[in-house]
Amino acid sequence: MSSYAISRRTFVAAAAAAAVAVVTPARPVASAEPNANPTIAARQRFFGAEHVDPRTGGVDPDKVILSWFGVTSFATAIAGDVFLLDAWVPRGEFSNRVPTSPTELAALAPSHIFIGHGHFDHAADATEIASLSGATIVGTEEHCRELDEQAATDLRTHPLSLDRTEFTLGGVTVRAVRHLHSGLRAPRGEQAPLVLAPDFTPTVEHPPTLQDLQHLADHA
Ligand SMILES: [Zn+2]
Repeated sequence: MSSYAISRRTFVAAAAAAAVAVVTPARPVASAEPNANPTIAARQRFFGAEHVDPRTGGVDPDKVILSWFGVTSFATAIAGDVFLLDAWVPRGEFSNRVPTSPTELAALAPSHIFIGHGHFDHAADATEIASLSGATIVGTEEHCRELDEQAATDLRTHPLSLDRTEFTLGGVTVRAVRHLHSGLRAPRGEQAPLVLAPDFTPTVEHPPTLQDLQHLADHA
């Protein structure tokens, strides 16, 4: 996916101290009746009904659960703390391929949104989700400033200095490191240039809506 740079130079790395990771794609719960509370319903859908208290919405504190929702975005629960790694629901040239929305992600009531790096396919839904949920955006000073400028309301942000460990959540230590990716460079040696054949299957199977095309054009 082509990318728009908020910052090409930085991303946030999480050094996981956790021992177990259960990866589950977002999926409907087996029960026909979703919980009437939107946060409990969303957490049951993303983390599995068996891991969510149906009265409080608390997620099993003994589990580490990552639920993928596109590119490198994960709804995450570690030691009962619920947060997002990246914030982008894939759409634009296709729609609803990943069946969720910024509104449903906000309903998870994440405490924090960690920005992996500043390209739109990692960060472009962060302001909407943070505005709806009150989650704190964690990223570099550049990420936090630019996302805050996009928001109509005041956002909570936690800017990280580069190369200094200064944030811990769910027993996981977070550090922002300088990183360059997608920089233009001539092929070296015998290496053939990488040519990617476009795959239009998602567009055919999940035709784009006008609104999603507009949303993509705004960010691209
Ligand atoms: Zn990128």
